[in-house]
Amino acid sequence: MALLVQKFGGTSVADPERMRAVADHVARTVRRGNQVVVVISAMGKETDELLRLANAVSDTRPGREMDMLVTAGERKAMALLCMAINDQGIPAESFTGSQAGFLTDATHTDAKILDVRPDRVRAALDAGRVAVVGGAQGQSVDHDITFLGRGGSDTTAVALAHALDAEFCELYTDVSGVFTTDPRVVEDARKIPSISFDELLEMTANGCPKPAMRSVEYARTHGVDLHVRSAFTWESGTIVTKEDDDMEQAIVSAVVHDASDAKVTIERVEDRPGIAAQIFRALADERISVDLIVQNTSEAGHTDISFTVPDGELATAMAVCEQAASSVGAAQVSGDPDIARVSVIGAGMKSHPGVAATVFEILAEHGINILMIASSAIRISVVVAEADAERAIQVLHDGFGLSEGPVYIE
Ligand code: ADP
Ligand code: ASP
Ligand code: MG
Repeated sequence: MALLVQKFGGTSVADPERMRAVADHVARTVRRGNQVVVVISAMGKETDELLRLANAVSDTRPGREMDMLVTAGERKAMALLCMAINDQGIPAESFTGSQAGFLTDATHTDAKILDVRPDRVRAALDAGRVAVVGGAQGQSVDHDITFLGRGGSDTTAVALAHALDAEFCELYTDVSGVFTTDPRVVEDARKIPSISFDELLEMTANGCPKPAMRSVEYARTHGVDLHVRSAFTWESGTIVTKEDDDMEQAIVSAVVHDASDAKVTIERVEDRPGIAAQIFRALADERISVDLIVQNTSEAGHTDISFTVPDGELATAMAVCEQAASSVGAAQVSGDPDIARVSVIGAGMKSHPGVAATVFEILAEHGINILMIASSAIRISVVVAEADAERAIQVLHDGFGLSEGPVYIE
């Protein structure tokens, strides 16, 4: 008998028919002799709808009340799913995040998990019931209801799987697994049969929406194996697990993109110690998260510094830099929201030279201009104009032959 955690995203439980299909799958899993804990998201686009309502009603939107509101989506879904499972002759009980033992900090709208004590979930399982837990929620140390943020249900599932020492954490979604690139952009994107935590973490940190990055971090830290799979076809999906030294590593596993960044350039700053420190301290003081940073070679004692920030922080970042401009001797500050980061990821590239060269050659062949370059041991990222992003993904996917799946060393 195995203990499985099965998480269903919004699309998977969007309407009554989908709810019954999911209940049917859970019931079949139980009949095969497994214990099942279900983690569920709000139905369809309900979270967006609740946020829209809050925007329409209030200008201040206090965090405590936002969390009370948004967690109602999962609460509705979990009760409905329990009813549908009970209809299948399988007893099921729903639990809110706090009932399931999720203790969080008090950072409303984006709370962090401090501890998971799933005593009631375990008792339900011991009594032969399915436990259905509302995703992305918990209770703060002040006993308030908290929301773990968008995509938080994935983290709920992984944290429960760890706390209950489950055999597997299955993340069901509307695609059949993790793909070599976004299947909405590239038609011949291929499902990746298995991938390491490190590679998936790089993917999610660089624009792949599935699974939520925090859940992948949690899974990696605690060694919770994941199975990302479809709630529509039920076919086997992508296994996410620790990198095995004996395992052959793909030079390139995936191409991902993120268009949510903007670029700031400070032109002609003085090239002397302390300039970068001054600029980036000022940005940090405004809590602006800077990502990719590039400094040009010095020319006549001056240099350009460029960096990326989230689109929403561009205006503040520019204001901060303009303020700092005079004291660092800068000529001008410019901003560009229309950029995208395209990244090629593969665990095997750390021991296989030449991937960066191939990336640049493919882009050059297709006349795509590179604005910035960054890399880690298993990733090469380029910043390009947003208008070039989809073509860049397509030509890199084609150029590396990813339509045949991840690329291994010959
Ligand atoms: P859910 O609603 O199940 O929580 P999301 O809608 O947040 O899931 O994310 C699933 C979507 O992510 C898929 O429909 C798919 O189009 C998109 N996606 C983008 N890049 C990838 C990728 N590399 N692999 C798989 N899915 C991807
Ligand atoms: N329903 C929430 C969202 O869409 C939380 C989640 O299900 O992950 O972000
Ligand atoms: Mg979705």
